[in-house]
Amino acid sequence: ETKTEDFVINEDKIKDLFRPRNEFSHKGTYGKVIIAGGSYGKIGAAVLSTKSALKSGTGLTFTLAPKCGYEVLQTSNPEAMFIEGGNDFIDHFEKDDNAVYGIGPGLGTNEKTVKSFLTFLKNHSKPLILDADALNIISQDSKNLKIIPENSIITPHPKEFERLFGTTENSFERVKLAKNKAKELGIYIVLKDHHTQIVTPEGDVFYNITGNSGLAKGGSGDILTGIITSFLAQNYSEKEAAILGVWFHGRAAEFASEKHSKESMLPTDVIDEFGTVFKELN
Ligand code: AMP
Ligand code: MG
Repeated sequence: ETKTEDFVINEDKIKDLFRPRNEFSHKGTYGKVIIAGGSYGKIGAAVLSTKSALKSGTGLTFTLAPKCGYEVLQTSNPEAMFIEGGNDFIDHFEKDDNAVYGIGPGLGTNEKTVKSFLTFLKNHSKPLILDADALNIISQDSKNLKIIPENSIITPHPKEFERLFGTTENSFERVKLAKNKAKELGIYIVLKDHHTQIVTPEGDVFYNITGNSGLAKGGSGDILTGIITSFLAQNYSEKEAAILGVWFHGRAAEFASEKHSKESMLPTDVIDEFGTVFKELN
């Protein structure tokens, strides 16, 4: 077995990884994202995740959501297109092999959503981003873990991680378990926490140190999903998209807290700082 290593993500590494936009390009150059999520009462999660994908540089962005979210989605994010997936919750997932999917924010766990999501997942072979209720659905049966497409990125917070893989004594044990699971399943695990860890299918661990407690609010995870999905659609590798995405999210949070305080900053304010982070990288 090859020796695995732990790394702390620093700004030099990020600057190496980041690719500035090419002037000789068009929207097709920057990929197609489909954010799938939202349900009656949780449309905001899909709004935030979609806005985040838009502001992260995606060429074409869609929201696959239930009809009850149509108006708020189209008015909040006029640059994004709408794909209807049901009435009050998603009960069918349109398949598009050219798109990169980010699935889960506000999705809910209605029985019909569960059925159609699992069927979609079984028939999808391209890597995708799974978060929130997509992970909660997978947790319902351990057999579901095996249908996650290889090289996909899952972004559980500690509670979602526990539902997926079981409890651990402490955060060291949790990383160890995440390494084993990432290797076994051939996926990337983004273990969201104060210092988020990105665990690769090779068993390497990258520690992120950007971000702050202003992110400890509903909606913060939804915007991370939008960022990582966007970077993956823009042709960053899964590993790059996860590392760059997590770092970027935290860095934007630092700018947002400077302006608004950790208490008052909202995920929307974090999205508004994406431009500041891109300027810093360019
Ligand atoms: P979620 O629980 O899905 O909304 O995700 C929360 C997001 O905010 C993750 O990206 C966490 O890493 C981040 N976050 C939450 N609390 C903190 C904290 N105290 N310090 C840094 N990041 C945090
Ligand atoms: Mg979340």
